[in-house]
Amino acid sequence: MKILVTGGLGFIGSHLVGRLLQEGHTVICLDNGYTGREENVQAHRDNPAFRLLWHDVAEPLPPELEKAGIEQIYHLACPASPPHYQADPIRTIRTGVWGTYHLLELAQKTGSRFLLASTSEVYGDPQVHPQPEDYWGHVNPIGPRACYDESKRLAETLTFDWQRQHQTEIRVARIFNTYGPAMREDDGRVVSNFIVQALRGDPLTVYGDGSQTRSFCYISDLIEGLVRLMNSPYPGPFNLGNPQEFTILELAQQVLALTGSPSPIVHRPLPTDDPKQRRPDIRKARTLLGWDPQIPLQVGLELTIPYFRRRLGLE
Ligand code: UDP
Repeated sequence: MKILVTGGLGFIGSHLVGRLLQEGHTVICLDNGYTGREENVQAHRDNPAFRLLWHDVAEPLPPELEKAGIEQIYHLACPASPPHYQADPIRTIRTGVWGTYHLLELAQKTGSRFLLASTSEVYGDPQVHPQPEDYWGHVNPIGPRACYDESKRLAETLTFDWQRQHQTEIRVARIFNTYGPAMREDDGRVVSNFIVQALRGDPLTVYGDGSQTRSFCYISDLIEGLVRLMNSPYPGPFNLGNPQEFTILELAQQVLALTGSPSPIVHRPLPTDDPKQRRPDIRKARTLLGWDPQIPLQVGLELTIPYFRRRLGLE
């Protein structure tokens, strides 16, 4: 198949591009390089089945894409780490909303199947735990996280309306915290921050008292879920995440133990509207997609730490 991946230079996007090429598909990777990095797809540069197109999804798409024979679109393009999406919130909204609009238009024109990379952030600071897909969420519409949360919520709305109005084939994945190789060392999210801090011997910065929870999914499990969802008959939404839940303090201790780092733990102020708890209810994905994450946190961290060691030039 010919497949378009937006955000294909990013952490998740580049793993997806690799997987699709491995399966024998032709892949167009569309990215503006805002948070993605070309080195993430370096291995495919000379592969004739791979093409990189520099473009910002918030702008109208190059018309040539309408004649490129695209059959599936994975729409991942959007900065996703709080420091990155909050650095220019208006731009984040343009990317989240107009980006999705443009890609849905392309899906309609080409008759492609469209998969939206949505997020657990649609649940906000959830009052239902764990979060099932039929929970409508608890989002502060005017807080610093809203530019991301609300634009992803509107992106979901647009996607379902496009299906209702134009019969476009849609798939919606709600992606929970994911980690692994190819993350930026300055990504700003907790797993990369803690590993980089531990390897450098810097203090691990726990925001608040560290009792807030997250559930961390290793990248290969997430990619498997995205591909299964795209090729399933179900529009979703589907939660894709690992339901094993940890406090942030437990994560810090685990990273210290696995790196053997002497770094201390320091506490920093809790960011505004930081969700107190998060854990996916994945019964729907288990039942309908036959998907279940295989990599527990410790194994995933053991696979990720050597990558950061290399990136930081420590070996
Ligand atoms: N966090 C932390 N120290 C850091 C980065 C993040 O304690 O250096 C906390 C953050 O406050 C949140 C959790 O870790 O409670 C997950 O944050 P992240 O930015 O990775 O993702 P998100 O909040 O979007 O789930």
